[in-house]
Amino acid sequence: MSIMVPSKTPALITPGQQALDSALHQLHQAAEHLGLDDGLRTMLATPRRSLTVSVPVRREDGRLDVVQGFRVQHNVSRGPAKGGIRFHPGTDIHEVTALAMWMTWKCALVGIPYGGAKGGVAVDPATLTVREQERLTRRYVNEILPLIGPEKDIPAPDVGTDEQTMAWIMDTYSVSAGYSVPGVVTGKPMTLGGSLGRAGATSRGVQIATLAALGRSPEGVGVAVQGFGKVGALAAQYLSDAGCKVVAVSDVGGAVHAAGGLDVSRLRAHAAEHGSVRGYPHADELPLDDLLELDVDVLVPAALEGAITEANAPRVRARLIVEGANGPLTPEADEIVNASGATVVPDILANAGGVIVSYLEWVQNMQAYSWSSGEVELKLRDLMENAFAEVRSLAGARGLTLRQAAHVIGVGRVAEAHQMRGLYP
Ligand code: NAD
Repeated sequence: MSIMVPSKTPALITPGQQALDSALHQLHQAAEHLGLDDGLRTMLATPRRSLTVSVPVRREDGRLDVVQGFRVQHNVSRGPAKGGIRFHPGTDIHEVTALAMWMTWKCALVGIPYGGAKGGVAVDPATLTVREQERLTRRYVNEILPLIGPEKDIPAPDVGTDEQTMAWIMDTYSVSAGYSVPGVVTGKPMTLGGSLGRAGATSRGVQIATLAALGRSPEGVGVAVQGFGKVGALAAQYLSDAGCKVVAVSDVGGAVHAAGGLDVSRLRAHAAEHGSVRGYPHADELPLDDLLELDVDVLVPAALEGAITEANAPRVRARLIVEGANGPLTPEADEIVNASGATVVPDILANAGGVIVSYLEWVQNMQAYSWSSGEVELKLRDLMENAFAEVRSLAGARGLTLRQAAHVIGVGRVAEAHQMRGLYP
């Protein structure tokens, strides 16, 4: 097994480069297991298209700011590229490439006919007014317009973007096309062709994966959730609904802890009103990073990449880690927690519920038809549970971790698609 060792000193490695190193490390492990040749490995390690754009945005005071934006299509061998758009000041081309690569394996793993993509804008949306966010979104979309389209590349929400952002994207694309094109983006509001069940889909998938991995009654199982955004807040809610005892959650503003369990609905109302879980009156404050080291049964990292590294991994006590976020464990951390006997449900499996229901939204859009929430939930559950069973069975049969097995399946399917299609010309 070969690891791509970066040539820079660790201090100079950005979080984005760290994420890409992790993604390449996982790919090479899977390629080794599958016995892929060097040419195919290079194909899979390299994005098909990468676009970096400069996005000018007029601020309310008349100033002109220019921020960097990215769209990467990692692979399109199994269908159109699919992946979210992130607004975060730390995002860069390396991070977006890593996230696009993980999307490729994720779509293949759960058996939906997409390749992988991701987009990002290096900006903190909290520093922009709503009108500035709208101008920024529309201009960014205009810059990446040649790449996206319902049959080419379909964006969705990610960190720092939401239904409103998706509505602006749909409108900008549709104005340019001259007619409404709901299928260009998923995670839209219901009124524009969004799907029932999409808003909570990633979190529902996290719940399904957690319960499958637990293999016992969830009643009273202690859970800590890092990140209280679109994924983390509803993951906490659904796990609590299933009977788990959610004892701690955090967001960028702070962490709260209640040994007897948090009332997640009240906490969500507090976070909606105050912009953070911090200050929630029915819990104790906790230093942000301590949440990851709590003595709980289940830890759900649902914030950003690189939350658990070789520095804090030896202090992680949860026996089950379910990756709501993409890439929250570095490969070194992964090795440490696996060696300690803990189980990790990897991102490309645990958080696949989002892209599954995005796919269902796109199918409904392409057919100009809509399904009930029951139909959507049934299809989501079916795809998640099948993927989980396949991963667990391969891991058991070959002595692999769940992450290695998930990558062997995902990478293997993409490799097979390449081999069947052959090379043009
Ligand atoms: P979001 O912007 O809605 O929420 C991110 C949350 O993380 C916020 O609560 C933020 O305060 C918190 N956070 C950031 N840094 C933190 C820190 N150091 N400690 C604690 N909390 C911190 O984003 P999201 O859509 O919920 O995405 C979260 C993760 O899930 C990302 O890795 C994303 O790629 C992944 N993901 C999202 C979806 C989706 O459908 N939105 C699907 C699959 C995977």
